[in-house]
Amino acid sequence: MQTKFIFVTGGVMSGLGKGVVTSSIAKLLQLSNQKVSCVKIDPYLNYDAGTMNPVAHGEVFVTDDGGECDMDIGNYERFLNQNIPKTHNITTAQIYSTVIDAERKGEYLGACVQIIPHVTDEIKRRIRNIAQSEKLDVLVVECGGTVGDIESLPFLEALRQLRLEDGAQNVIFVHVTLAPSLDVVGEQKTKPTQHSVQELRRIGIQPDLVAVRCSAPLHESTKKKISMFTNVTIRDVFSCHDVKSIFMVPQILYDQGIVDTIFTKFGKVGLVNTSANWDRWNSIVSSLDRQDGYIKIAMVGKYVTLADSYVSVNHALKHAGAKIGKSVSIDWIDSETINGNIEKLDKYDGILVPGGFGNRGADGIIKTANHAREKNIPYLGICFGFQLAAVAFGRFVCGFDDANSAELDAGTKNAIVDLLPEQKTISNMGGSLRLGAHEISIKNNTIAHKTYGTSVIRRHRHRYEINKEYLPVLEKNGMIFSAESDGSKRMEILEVPKHRFYLGVQFHPEFSSRPGYPEESFVAFLNAATS
Ligand code: GLN
Repeated sequence: MQTKFIFVTGGVMSGLGKGVVTSSIAKLLQLSNQKVSCVKIDPYLNYDAGTMNPVAHGEVFVTDDGGECDMDIGNYERFLNQNIPKTHNITTAQIYSTVIDAERKGEYLGACVQIIPHVTDEIKRRIRNIAQSEKLDVLVVECGGTVGDIESLPFLEALRQLRLEDGAQNVIFVHVTLAPSLDVVGEQKTKPTQHSVQELRRIGIQPDLVAVRCSAPLHESTKKKISMFTNVTIRDVFSCHDVKSIFMVPQILYDQGIVDTIFTKFGKVGLVNTSANWDRWNSIVSSLDRQDGYIKIAMVGKYVTLADSYVSVNHALKHAGAKIGKSVSIDWIDSETINGNIEKLDKYDGILVPGGFGNRGADGIIKTANHAREKNIPYLGICFGFQLAAVAFGRFVCGFDDANSAELDAGTKNAIVDLLPEQKTISNMGGSLRLGAHEISIKNNTIAHKTYGTSVIRRHRHRYEINKEYLPVLEKNGMIFSAESDGSKRMEILEVPKHRFYLGVQFHPEFSSRPGYPEESFVAFLNAATS
């Protein structure tokens, strides 16, 4: 079986929504009953996104199989409602490590090892391997970066070769560009698009489709001009204008005939009736847009200067809000600014503390977790927000003044949160946290049980955990641990039964939430926040 490939490249500048175009095309093909998946190429030198600061690069998305991936992988999962394995996030470091390892083993039999063909062959091998092993009808591959970047050249070269080898009937290039409007009259400028397509053609790639980001729908005259200068027929120039929600992008591309265009280019015939797929998708998209009142949530975290650093949490709140028919408005509050002014949190319906690492701002999180408990404000603590809720309880309820996490104070006498034992011998920081999906068993008669039933599988990303020595004293004072994993080695959920809703989870529920299929703890949290 020959998998068809769609390669998505980007021009002009970053942040144009290449990931959304990629996900939307994949979604449309999935709605057309094709078996699809997506791949993200990240030309940077990091092996994976795990060591990157979320404020600079956006959230680190964790896959079921423990990959620490680019946040676009999260978009693919949310659009397609399907798990994406970590092999679908390819970086320069992965490619070069494989090539260099092979060279050291003597596998190139004396050859001079070069970018072409050895590096490009490895890139193609990985892409083909995904297509074949997953028996995909179509694989959509997004190449990160902007055309003209030095880093992405070997990848674009590999994609060019793949088209040459597999033929135009099996490989399509989609180039995403920008048509800015500078004045109030709204003239759409095409020069940036012209230049970026020229750059692409210079390296041997002629795009088949051009997807143009713009604020208002692309005028016919703009399409004509772009068509002429980019050597793409006018039908193949698509307007990607601003819409209220990214989940509406598949519809606007569909309305311009993109599915027919792709099917024709691939020589696929006989579109089946997919109206049932569309009905389900449309009802999900419109539920996300419903606005019958607001729930006000304070999200108190460390990486609040970039909305993308907690992108999955933001989405998960929206999915859960849609389920209960409410919009969620989120105020991001920098935990470093929480001090004498903590009363400002009182006006919120709920407080959420997401994941985080390191000392900066940790004190504000501990105070926030304590305040939510004292003021009986619904609280959901995720990972760091779970660990520091236990620390706050140890400090302010159990009377251990120096209670802390060993991550924040290695010398504390009361390390309520301590390093995972198997972490003690680890020296490499990359890829070495406790990662990915683990099964969690839940105790009866708890909020956790009401939320999930007797067990649930969720994704993890942590190096520290609750120190079990402190369970008796924490439980005696009214904080219970209602779920565990790895036998009963690790504590996974905490709650305070006397409180309206006080839940902390060691795992990351946000990575399992999808439009139309909200994650249970977010629904429970919002339900409590509205009652
Ligand atoms: N810093 C904490 C740990 O390593 C929490 C991690 C997180 O919030 N993802 O365990």
